[in-house]
Amino acid sequence: MKTSKKFLFAAAGLSLTNGIPVTAQNNIQDRKPNVIYVFPDQFRNHAMGFWGEKGFKEHVRFKPDPVITPNLNNFARESVVLTSAMSNCPLSSPHRGMLLSGMYPDGSGVPLNCNSDRPISSLREDIECIGDVFKKNGYNCAYIGKLHVDFPTPNNPEAPGTYVNNDTPVWDAYTPKERRHGFDYWYSYGTFDIHKQPHYWDTDGKRHEIREWSPKHEADKAIEYLKNTGNVRDTSKPFFMVVSMNPPHSPYRTIEDVMEEDYNLYKDIPLDKLLVRPNANPQMEKAQCAPFYFASVTGVDREFGRILKALKDLRLEENTIVVFSSDHGETMCSQNTNDPKNSPYAESMNVPFLVRYPEKLKPRVEDRLLLSSPDIMPTVLGLAGLSRQIPETVQGTNFAPVISKEKNAPELPSVLYLRNLNGEKNADGKIISYFPEARGIKTERYTLAISIDKRHNIKHIFFYDDIKDPYQMNNLSVTENQEIFNDLCKQMGQLLKQINDPWYKDRILSSKIPY
Ligand code: CA
Repeated sequence: MKTSKKFLFAAAGLSLTNGIPVTAQNNIQDRKPNVIYVFPDQFRNHAMGFWGEKGFKEHVRFKPDPVITPNLNNFARESVVLTSAMSNCPLSSPHRGMLLSGMYPDGSGVPLNCNSDRPISSLREDIECIGDVFKKNGYNCAYIGKLHVDFPTPNNPEAPGTYVNNDTPVWDAYTPKERRHGFDYWYSYGTFDIHKQPHYWDTDGKRHEIREWSPKHEADKAIEYLKNTGNVRDTSKPFFMVVSMNPPHSPYRTIEDVMEEDYNLYKDIPLDKLLVRPNANPQMEKAQCAPFYFASVTGVDREFGRILKALKDLRLEENTIVVFSSDHGETMCSQNTNDPKNSPYAESMNVPFLVRYPEKLKPRVEDRLLLSSPDIMPTVLGLAGLSRQIPETVQGTNFAPVISKEKNAPELPSVLYLRNLNGEKNADGKIISYFPEARGIKTERYTLAISIDKRHNIKHIFFYDDIKDPYQMNNLSVTENQEIFNDLCKQMGQLLKQINDPWYKDRILSSKIPY
């Protein structure tokens, strides 16, 4: 008996179009892209070698760090590369809250770095986050690595009623299932900084103690997820996978923090050849960290490259959007500050943002777009074809049409800089409000930030012409540049009003900032 082709395909759960079998996986028109979002911590935009190469160096005003990043260099040639992605509140938890929710820190619930002294700072459970949206639209969602958006509670799965460690305050946290915002595969922790002894809680809350460099282990877990080792995802569904690596975050002081093979690449280079930015001071004690920081960058590059290779080997490359970014930068002896982040300086705010999507995006450098933290969620959803699914709570902008060149970048781009600080405490000594210590604005040309004390007196004004002075070595006088200052304050006031920021609500410095 002759069995019809149609019958066989139907029996296999497939359908026929013009005699060609069609599944959700191989119908290019309809299939949803996979999405991989990789973001190491404290990785500044300047720490990628391709910025020194033809095709890239013409677009930036800085000398790149002398780093070895072969995988990122190749990836950049296949990607849309942003010169000016900015972390608005360049600190771990506030950025992560914005990344996941598309809301500014005051709205996401995460204005401060999360620890057990700050119940004020914890990702809201009642809002739709990026994983929730992907899940709702038929995706499997995986989170691997550092999360750091939850207020730690005594919910240790191995010892209920206790915290996951005994620090004071407790920084690390276990995220129970009901707080995972759509991520159905879990291999994560709150925050923890011994790079060669990381730990993770898996989907079922089991703790895993690991004895290898965390980015290597996380790349292994990401590759397992891609290969579907252990049947952890439904291969008929697209996936959204976040890989959040801790290095090149500190500590970066000894061979215990990095891979020796990476350190060997930098250990004999004099510090003044490693710290090439003219605003850096190689005499600072912290300068000893530079070879370890750059070694971490090279190690992260290698592990990112392994994930990309697995994607290619599995033939998933064409239909997968891959983003490489960071939560904020690292000053590394620039501006004579020991604080690696949290400032309006370029080294702290400017982060990598590279998007590869072979099926839809032509590689190029985008140097007009100022994309910032709350824009990432709507933009990633937009790139994945889910622009109509962006929740109404989102305050950021979907820049997918700019990245895909269907639209031009905004004519007069500007993004906010925000810095918050502990506010009032409750009877238990827990911080229950915050003090919005500084606000600022970054435009194509200028950086302006104003910090205040608790009586709202101005403490400091950061004011730079980033075109004439890309290393921000000449703090402009307000009186000599009054018109520019006024104009920047006006723009900043409009942005603060739009997001209903505490500075707008309290009309802070209203004599200077016309809200
Ligand atoms: Ca961080």
